[in-house]
Amino acid sequence: MDSLRDPEHALVVLSGGQDSTTCLYWALSRFAQVSAISFDYGQRHRVELDAARTIAAMAGVGHTIIPINTFSALGGNALTDQQMSPDTGPDAETLLPNTFVPGRNLIFILHAAAWAYAKNIRHIVLGVCQSDYSGYPDCRDDSIKAMQVAVNSGMDAQYTLHTPLMWRSKKDAWMLARELGGDALVNLIVEESHTCYMGQRGQREPWGYGCGTCPACRLRAAGYAAYAQALADLGQNCPKG
Ligand code: ZN
Repeated sequence: MDSLRDPEHALVVLSGGQDSTTCLYWALSRFAQVSAISFDYGQRHRVELDAARTIAAMAGVGHTIIPINTFSALGGNALTDQQMSPDTGPDAETLLPNTFVPGRNLIFILHAAAWAYAKNIRHIVLGVCQSDYSGYPDCRDDSIKAMQVAVNSGMDAQYTLHTPLMWRSKKDAWMLARELGGDALVNLIVEESHTCYMGQRGQREPWGYGCGTCPACRLRAAGYAAYAQALADLGQNCPKG
């Protein structure tokens, strides 16, 4: 199978969540060399970065953590502002959830491309998704394509931004993980990846750890339930359901 792999080097933006972990394994299945990059942007909970560290180590890929400490100074969102709590509904004016960190993915892409530049890495893999997303406009296909144009022009380089989950539902993201690494990878994602906005890792649910009630947990739980149902429909059992 190795002869079918792209001989080039890919950089995965790894948050430590379900989607970017799936994308890490997607990249490993396609590229000869894979590295991961995470951003320490003042997230409310360090558990996310810890998950990214663990997942990169388990996958055996080099992992770099870049500090970006400007988001909390910019303010106005529940992921970096300790005074705000992640809510369940959209802001009345912007219709965006208050977990929206304005431009976060755009800033991540810019930093990832800048880091990759000198290393001659031109494939950047992102776990963003438009079809089953949390309402963040910088996850949309148009935003990513615009950033590809921006970094290629601004750095006079030829990057390709890969978004394997862009048009997949959360259920299909679990399905992709199963295709890539079987039940072992699904179990790894359930056990090690972190999604919960509240940073909770207490109770183990079929879909992993989390509070179970924040928007991120609900999206992940619903996706896993649909995945488990799809497997049941196929007459297959979910691992450790
Ligand atoms: Zn939660």
